[in-house]
Amino acid sequence: MKKGKVYLVGAGPGDPKLITVKGLECIQQADVIAYDRLVNKELLQHAKQGAELIFCGKLPGKHALIQEQINQLLVEKAEQGLIVTRLKGGDPCVFGRVGEEAEQLAQAHIPFEIVPGITAGIAAPAYAGIPVTHRDHAATFAIVTAHGRAEKGQDFINWQALAQGMDTIAFYMGVGNLGHICQELIKHGKSASTPVAIIEWGTTNNQRTITGDLVSIEQKAQDYNISNPAIVLVGEVVGQREKIRWFDQDPHISTIMKTE
Ligand code: SAH
Repeated sequence: MKKGKVYLVGAGPGDPKLITVKGLECIQQADVIAYDRLVNKELLQHAKQGAELIFCGKLPGKHALIQEQINQLLVEKAEQGLIVTRLKGGDPCVFGRVGEEAEQLAQAHIPFEIVPGITAGIAAPAYAGIPVTHRDHAATFAIVTAHGRAEKGQDFINWQALAQGMDTIAFYMGVGNLGHICQELIKHGKSASTPVAIIEWGTTNNQRTITGDLVSIEQKAQDYNISNPAIVLVGEVVGQREKIRWFDQDPHISTIMKTE
């Protein structure tokens, strides 16, 4: 039997219109759509009638399907000759485990494509009025996960390189580790007054943004009860928000929570 094909697709950061044309076509043409928790469910409306929709959601710490089962599922469905779209939040190659899934497919000789998406670490700041690079403020930009490692005593981050070499840093899955992040950056040479923004549910109607600096942000995050999904963005570019804030100021976006 003819083998199917798997599309490993980035669904974008939340706003359902922030998916690529190619990504949308993959949804429309799929026989099977395997989607993650952070994928905007509105996108599933584009699925063809009769398509099988499989939730592979991961709540932090919990897994609806464990990764090996997902890998196996993709292989099995494609071997049945089906078109499978594996839909992931943001960009599939940014903390999306696409490497593991693609490796399994390659091993099983199943054709696949990777369809990039817009990653939250760039898009959420953009919707908060913060460009991650700026001619006057930031020539370097890093994407970092600090997830879970500090508590386990396994901090693999080169804090000195980050603190001293990166103008803008986007931390994914960083809210739980906020205190550690701020302490390490200051300890390794970032100024305590470096601006920080946290953007929760970026690009969605629930977007909330708080700003502060490396000293004040932790308390503020607690005061506003900020939780994941959120991007912790560190750097002078955060100051641009005062000038070019737009999305959460638009009177037509009525459900926005205007935190600041
Ligand atoms: N592949 C995704 C990232 C997956 S890791 C991407 O490229 O965006 C999950 C983390 O991404 C969350 O814990 C959060 O830090 C971030 N994230 C995803 N969607 C987000 C959103 N709408 N707003 C803010 N952060 C988001």
